Amino acid sequence: MAEKSFKYLIVGGGVAAGYAAREFVKQGVKPGELAIISKEAVAPYERPALSKAYLFPEGTARLPGFHVCVGSGGERLLPEWYSEKGISLILSTEIVKADLASKTLVSAASETFKYQTLIIATGSAVVKLTDFGVRGADAKNIYYLREIEDADQLVEAIKTKKNGKAVVVGGGYIGLELSAALKINNIDVSMVYPEPWCSNQMMYELKRIRYAVICGRVLWAAIVSAYMYDFTVPRLFTPEIAAFYESYYTNKGVNIIKGTVAVGFGANEKGEVKDVKLKDGRVLEADIVVVGVGGRPLTTLFKGQVEEEKGGIKTDGFFKTSIPDVYAVGDVATFPMKLYNEIRRVEHVDHARKSAEQAVKAIFASEQRTSIDEYDYLPFFYSRSFDLSWQFYGDNVGDTVLFGDSNPTSPTHKFGSYWIKDGKVVGAFLESGTPEENKAIAKVARVQPAASTLDQLAKEGLAFASKI
Ligand SMILES: Cc1cc2nc3c(=O)[nH]c(=O)nc-3n(C[C@H](O)[C@H](O)[C@H](O)COP(=O)(O)OP(=O)(O)OC[C@H]3O[C@@H](n4cnc5c(N)ncnc54)[C@H](O)[C@@H]3O)c2cc1C
Repeated sequence: MAEKSFKYLIVGGGVAAGYAAREFVKQGVKPGELAIISKEAVAPYERPALSKAYLFPEGTARLPGFHVCVGSGGERLLPEWYSEKGISLILSTEIVKADLASKTLVSAASETFKYQTLIIATGSAVVKLTDFGVRGADAKNIYYLREIEDADQLVEAIKTKKNGKAVVVGGGYIGLELSAALKINNIDVSMVYPEPWCSNQMMYELKRIRYAVICGRVLWAAIVSAYMYDFTVPRLFTPEIAAFYESYYTNKGVNIIKGTVAVGFGANEKGEVKDVKLKDGRVLEADIVVVGVGGRPLTTLFKGQVEEEKGGIKTDGFFKTSIPDVYAVGDVATFPMKLYNEIRRVEHVDHARKSAEQAVKAIFASEQRTSIDEYDYLPFFYSRSFDLSWQFYGDNVGDTVLFGDSNPTSPTHKFGSYWIKDGKVVGAFLESGTPEENKAIAKVARVQPAASTLDQLAKEGLAFASKI
């Protein structure tokens, strides 16, 4: 089969790839120089839409509506945009072999791709219960959500199982968003998670596993060893924050079941899931099961060829890996978080966008023998469900104070939390903030102002952020 050769090659066609393409054009890439190879059949899109408006019965999001870069208020890059710019978008193509020494990638259909500079943007894969032999986890109508194909299957199931029952396994932010979306579709939803409160953090499995280990579940303990590297980020929600969302969800009719895990699934004669067996002995009826128990970075192709750390591909502040001319961005990159003087990996969309732009700027700077500033990332996560919307900036370490109105039945609920470490405010969370208020908490997390007392901070609430 013919060999294709490109000056720049991006493997993976998700969020980071799309934002990288836009930056390549800004930097003056020439037609024919850049290619993006993606396993998915569609041009890069804003992945977070899949667990939100993609599943809504009204105001539904569909492609081409949410191709990158609309999620950050930028231009929507339609497939035509890539061809107009002379960028090869090589879709439905999975790379199955990478040889960084000879600068060669090979696809499942045995096509060979050569490059001068490679950007690894393969993102994450979901952790599946079948990987750990959970009984009955291969039944039909058990879903995971990562790519648009997964979302299409879930949309179809919501249609076929109209007014049916769903069990959502996992209390992270994906679990919370999916429970809300299913409920809005008139599905009867139960949410099951082992923690004493919902966590809303992508990499929250350590707590889940610790709990399971305490419960003596050997099966879940196996996950600990398999994914130990993922468990470095403490959960984001404090018990007070979680209490708000749990009550809010309960008031919306979502049945929250905490402190237990799904240990098996029953199926009907068609092989479709019919119930979920819980560790505490309860059995929940289910027409649909959606599992959101975390992800793992897709680095397998490069194992042994490039330095790794904390489960990802180790990079510097320009997203250069240990191998010359190879960069890694988005979910797969473990990079220096300058603000905290630490190396971290981040599975969130804002970092995917910004790391991609930084890598492309760095590539051009090194070609032009100029320099750019090192990546200086301020962590930013967000989520939306029902009519709720929260943002978090900074680091969730140290003491916490809650401020504002966190009564879930209040029509004007607006509340937040600050994290205080060594006398400084290092993190801030806000539910239902206006754009200006969200900007203010972002500034707090960046500036890290000194906190007076916790009581004073709680009393001042948003006013503290507004004066920074
Ligand atoms: C349902 C869902 C909801 C989310 N919601 C939020 C949110 O609300 N807020 C937030 O901050 N973050 C959210 N995230 C996380 C965010 O979407 C990711 O952090 C971001 O997409 C990472 O970008 P990426 O480019 O690194 O990886 P991805 O966007 O995952 O892209 C990776 C791409 O690489 C392709 N690929 C992988 N391996 C190969 C291969 N071998 N050959 C070819 N192609 C390959 C994949 O098919 C995919 O297209 C969400 C994620 C999901 C799944």
